[in-house]
Amino acid sequence: MAEVLVYVDHMDGAVRKPTLELLTLARRIGEPVAVAVGAGAENTASTLAEHGAARVLTHDASEYADYLVVPKVDALQAAYEAVSPAAVLVPSSAEGKEIAARLAVRIGSGIITDAVDLEAGDEGPVATQSVFAASYSTKSRVSKGTPVITVKPNSAPVEAAPAAGAVEALAVSFSAQATGTKVAARTPRESTGRPELTEAAIVVSGGRGVNGAGNFAIIEALADSLGAAVGASRAAVDAGWYPHTNQVGQTGKSVSPQLYIASGISGAIQHRAGMQTSKTIVAINKDSEAPIFDLVDYGVVGDLFEVVPQLTEEIKARKG
Ligand SMILES: Cc1cc2nc3c(=O)[nH]c(=O)nc-3n(C[C@H](O)[C@H](O)[C@H](O)COP(=O)(O)OP(=O)(O)OC[C@H]3O[C@@H](n4cnc5c(N)ncnc54)[C@H](O)[C@@H]3O)c2cc1C
Repeated sequence: MAEVLVYVDHMDGAVRKPTLELLTLARRIGEPVAVAVGAGAENTASTLAEHGAARVLTHDASEYADYLVVPKVDALQAAYEAVSPAAVLVPSSAEGKEIAARLAVRIGSGIITDAVDLEAGDEGPVATQSVFAASYSTKSRVSKGTPVITVKPNSAPVEAAPAAGAVEALAVSFSAQATGTKVAARTPRESTGRPELTEAAIVVSGGRGVNGAGNFAIIEALADSLGAAVGASRAAVDAGWYPHTNQVGQTGKSVSPQLYIASGISGAIQHRAGMQTSKTIVAINKDSEAPIFDLVDYGVVGDLFEVVPQLTEEIKARKG
């Protein structure tokens, strides 16, 4: 069976969920071979094996931490040359897209970014993308070279599919460009204890209707009752009520969770662009004519200051 390379996003050996989703998709088109580099790479193997990786190619060197993406591109290219895969799958993070794009240029292949689904096709894998602020779905396949495809988080279920997960050392020689951009300093972000916005299965967002930084506490309380991440519209972050890193939309982050709850958000096209592929969308808005109601699965016409706290209490009560 053709092998499919899966680039592993991990933190000191803890594999991030989008990579496990990639393994689900990779199994549809071939046999997954995972590529894990950097500190703790070998520790990823058992998780990757549980989710279908037949082989896990690993390499560690200080270059991965000390320099920006190029050493990782060198490693992925080394794996590509060693395996001759049918496709290369990379998580659609900002870094993942840069790695994938650089690899595609180097190997002369076509690339598809931000796929939301992937299936086997007679002439290679067919990727679904959600375009024009998710008003259209397109299906495409790469027609030149080995398909390099980045996939958005939450596009596929995480499935247990035990496989060998044999760890093999990957031989990597770094290119001249590898040390071109050095990491000068790192400041750990203060942890909120909430899931990462782009990876979260549930996102609770607040907009201008939240009407103040302090009021975001009710959005956070709902998020915490569900184990969700907190998002915000641009109007809310521009007003200084919530950090820019939490902005959802065209010029913010793209999220595609199982459940997206929008409170006090009108549903402008630029906001929709970042959340319209969410599986189930719920909106709370006091204006029944708000455009957000055109795309919701469930809508509540009401004042968020009444609805959201009640919802939070009800969820807490049901969770016992
Ligand atoms: C180039 C460009 C890029 C942009 N990128 C983004 C982006 O990435 N993300 C983004 O979000 N926007 C983006 N925008 C801005 C976008 O056009 C909208 O202005 C913005 O999304 C509006 O945010 P909002 O829905 O919170 O505010 P509004 O449009 O003002 O809507 C607020 C809503 O809250 C409701 N409301 C008010 N009070 C209550 C209450 N008490 N209870 C319930 N409902 C209430 C109102 O009925 C209204 O529908 C961009 C704009 C441009 C031009």
